[in-house]
Amino acid sequence: MDKNKTRPCPVCRKAVSQDMPDAPFCSRRCRQIDLGRWAAGDYRVEGESAMPWELENDED
Ligand SMILES: [Zn+2]
Repeated sequence: MDKNKTRPCPVCRKAVSQDMPDAPFCSRRCRQIDLGRWAAGDYRVEGESAMPWELENDED
């Protein structure tokens, strides 16, 4: 595995070649999942008073 050409997929952490058409995601599915997370987070912040970093701390 060439570390100079691969990165972990932001969604599933699978090594992704930066030559891939869906990079930095391993697949179109992971790209959609990541976009969905951002969209859901935006709606959640607007709808509730909880801060994003507080939500992340709760997960830990
Ligand atoms: Zn992935």
